[in-house]
Amino acid sequence: MARINEHYAKLPASYLFPEIGRRVRAYAAAHPEAKVIRLGIGDVTEPLAPAIVDAMHAAVDEMGKRETFRGYGPEQGYDFLVEAIRQNDYAARGVEIAADEIFVSDGSKCDSGNIQEIFSLAARIAVTDPVYPVYVDSNVMAGRTAAVGADGRYPGLTYLVGNEANGFQPEPPAEGVDVVYLCSPNNPTGTVATRAQLERWVAWAKQHDAIILFDAAYESYISDPALPRSIYEIPGARDCALELRSFSKRAGFTGVRCAFLVVPKTVTGVGADGARVSLNALWARRHTTKFNGASYVVQRGAAAAYSRAGLAQTTAQIAFYMENARLLREGLSAAGFTVFGGVHAPYIWLRTHGGATSWEFFDRLLTETQVVGTPGSGFGPAGEGYFRLSGFNSRANIEEAIQRIRRVFG
Ligand SMILES: *Cc1c(COP(=O)(O)O)cnc(C)c1O
Repeated sequence: MARINEHYAKLPASYLFPEIGRRVRAYAAAHPEAKVIRLGIGDVTEPLAPAIVDAMHAAVDEMGKRETFRGYGPEQGYDFLVEAIRQNDYAARGVEIAADEIFVSDGSKCDSGNIQEIFSLAARIAVTDPVYPVYVDSNVMAGRTAAVGADGRYPGLTYLVGNEANGFQPEPPAEGVDVVYLCSPNNPTGTVATRAQLERWVAWAKQHDAIILFDAAYESYISDPALPRSIYEIPGARDCALELRSFSKRAGFTGVRCAFLVVPKTVTGVGADGARVSLNALWARRHTTKFNGASYVVQRGAAAAYSRAGLAQTTAQIAFYMENARLLREGLSAAGFTVFGGVHAPYIWLRTHGGATSWEFFDRLLTETQVVGTPGSGFGPAGEGYFRLSGFNSRANIEEAIQRIRRVFG
């Protein structure tokens, strides 16, 4: 008899995207003529940049020849990619990160789900609300919580509420937290943390001997050069922060899969005997034990995102998505909506019309405009009454969606 991990039973059946799919299918079946526009899922839509495709083709050819074939690579990533990351993402912004502080992986979803296992079950974890659900669910699976409460929250986690008053960027908690997950630019709210806010987080972490897990999956969408793109641009962050980065949104790698986690050797936790332990050593042990490296072909593609041509092409893609976001933001504002985000992130976070719940608004938008978005309540109780739309689509679809929304709501 194999006893199962009971903590999995605390998770309600995955609801958000299956339920969206169910409602859209039911609507489409009843209205086969309707042209439904999906602005709901956080996935890129533009094809891979030519410089990346060329690099991956060349890498495939290398793999097909005896002289250049490669088997298992280094678990932490090939030097050519780690060096490109070090130079372009960090040194160029005045941040010193060593090669052995970078761990190349096959995605930030996995990294953000796996990172909790190097902390004790007793570590006190905080998340924002609304939140990227992986941070919460992976801690539930690990056994850090009780079953979800009637308020939609898991006892055992600390929730830091993002709301209109704080611009969806909650301040650090007074006490009682050892590890916090931050995501900026934020999914789902599309808002971004300012330098002053990040400085307060780093000061808080140092004061409380806490760790910041900083998810920067959308850093390349930041349009203001004065805003930090990395938590390490904040002095002191090398002592208290880990940073997650992904090629998914910056280079269209959602289907290719490549990311990395930065774990400075200066970040430490505490062992049962009170001794300081390097998180870099723990994560290196974890990574090399449970992961055998991202594919060579994929890493060549990721490195090409840093080439002159690759950078120009991916920057143009991001500009395209951000123009979509700007059109959405302005179109929704003109239709009378209160909107957030969409300036340094591809997501628009809007207050629902007339005080509707997130799901009521979902139904109304679907049936009256045939536009699909994501109910804010799916990202946590504080998301109730809000709704996420994304700029990941064709220009024609974005313009059509705005026209329909303005016709009905404007
Ligand atoms: C898309 C996204 C990621 C990237 O995940 P991958 O597994 O690298 O595709 C990470 N964090 C957030 C918040 C995201 O929205």
